[in-house]
Amino acid sequence: MAVVWHGGGRRWFTRRAAENAEARRLINKRCECDNGDAFTPPYTCGLHKDAVKNARRTRLMVAMFVRPTTRAALPQEEQE
Ligand SMILES: [Zn+2]
Repeated sequence: MAVVWHGGGRRWFTRRAAENAEARRLINKRCECDNGDAFTPPYTCGLHKDAVKNARRTRLMVAMFVRPTTRAALPQEEQE
């Protein structure tokens, strides 16, 4: 039997990993990155342009929205 945490649409072994995944999912909902095609060059949206700011935004998202609700990262015991 192992305790797993749910977040961002999959299961994780630590609460922190689940919270980060859930925060990423929330942020990526507003992502406008584009791979481009033959005519349009690839585009990196404002949310993913800066890795440092992105990490800060993810931390903030966890602290403000993911952790208080606890809906996303609930531990669940699973039978193996
Ligand atoms: Zn993006």
